[in-house]
Amino acid sequence: MKVAVVGTGYVGLVTGTCLSQTGVSVVCIDINQQKIENLRKGIIPIFEPGLDDLVVKNTEEGRLTFSTNLSESIQGCEAIFIAVGTPSDEDGSADLKYVIGVASEIGKAITNYTVVITKSTVPVGTSLKVKEAIKVELQKRGVAIEFDVASNPEFLKEGAAIDDFMKPDRIVIGTESERAEKVLSKIYKPFIMNGHPLIFMNIPSAELTKYAANAMLATRISFMNDIANLCEIVGADVNLIRKGIGTDTRIGSKFLYPGIGYGGSCFPKDVKAIIKTAKDLNYDLQVLKAVEAVNEDQKSVLFNKINKHFKGDLKGKKIALWGLSFKPNTDDMREAPSLVMIKKLLEAGCVVNAFDPVAIEEAHRIIGDKIVYCKHQYDGLSDADALIILTEWQVFRMPDFDKVSKLLKNKLIFDGRNIFDIEDMKELGFSYYSIGRTSINI
Ligand code: NAD
Repeated sequence: MKVAVVGTGYVGLVTGTCLSQTGVSVVCIDINQQKIENLRKGIIPIFEPGLDDLVVKNTEEGRLTFSTNLSESIQGCEAIFIAVGTPSDEDGSADLKYVIGVASEIGKAITNYTVVITKSTVPVGTSLKVKEAIKVELQKRGVAIEFDVASNPEFLKEGAAIDDFMKPDRIVIGTESERAEKVLSKIYKPFIMNGHPLIFMNIPSAELTKYAANAMLATRISFMNDIANLCEIVGADVNLIRKGIGTDTRIGSKFLYPGIGYGGSCFPKDVKAIIKTAKDLNYDLQVLKAVEAVNEDQKSVLFNKINKHFKGDLKGKKIALWGLSFKPNTDDMREAPSLVMIKKLLEAGCVVNAFDPVAIEEAHRIIGDKIVYCKHQYDGLSDADALIILTEWQVFRMPDFDKVSKLLKNKLIFDGRNIFDIEDMKELGFSYYSIGRTSINI
């Protein structure tokens, strides 16, 4: 079996690689020539645990190939996955120009029955637009080649993408033909050996399922951030609340961690897009509007604590910052809360020394030379007025506190991820601010 994956980013590269791991012949296509050349040499464009080994292995075994030439590469493919970006447009809607552009290219090139599957996160109705774009090109060519469209939203998490793809909780597929269903059942058979379901539904339901999933997860985060802020007012500890409610099986323990607001390439844009879809149809998604508003406010909560601690006098303060990526185990900086914090610190006149285990290069590409990038975790701490923690990387959880104490000018930590115990910090003599818990100001 031969399949193509168009778009070789976080989703496309993981999809193509994992599919090839089952024995299928996969060609990954991208318009970024440099990316494709690098991939052919085994240079992986993103940090994703386990991905490099799988790419190299499957490339060496000839099952995984890379190309910039869509029309040539898709010949003989039974299925083509579209996994290009769908960034937010200015009005919050998902920008579909890449998806529809790829659909047109497919229409110009297919020569046999193909299932064209949209894996990108797209609003309801997009698969119909994909179908239309392909049809238009086939009509221009004056040919009658059969094809089907399908929606197969992706639920992988960056940082655990391989595992999520290989052992998915479920696979959601929207189709309108039995023939397409058969092709997709065949492709996904190796991934549902764990007994988790392949859920077939109509296309609009599949498209909306993805937004509903991300919107639900974003809602849990904003809800906990709201509760965390209330905890600080009433003297409660949000960690205890989290345990207290997370053990309720109706609620469950995941995605109940308060912090500095959700970021990343998906939640912010997908919450915006579903609100916009509803608005266009004269429906007001009130809960999600509140989720967004809470998230915007939450991005300032930790900075406000810093500003208050220094009584509004941040000019010239040297700040050590641990964690730049929007979450651990990825170098993805899209919509990372660290970007908001850094902007605020710089505007207030601070000098920022930043460290991240993998995202330094990506951060430098986005932020430039406005901050200092540190090679090692403790490099930026010398003489710094405070340490701020923005991403909960494992290596930050048990630091050498003696070293931290000796290097910092003040024993002062602002923790946006609640990674330390308050009692430990008290014992160690740190002033310590976190989220939704009592602050220690020595
Ligand atoms: P990405 O930006 O990492 O990758 C997109 C890739 O598509 C880029 O390499 C780009 O060069 C390529 N591309 C753009 N136009 C192209 C064209 N015409 N032909 C070939 N390649 C083209 O994006 P991503 O994070 O992989 O996300 C892709 C989609 O999957 C989005 O809709 C996103 O919302 C969704 N999604 C992302 C995640 C995630 O964790 N990143 C998870 C689930 C779903």
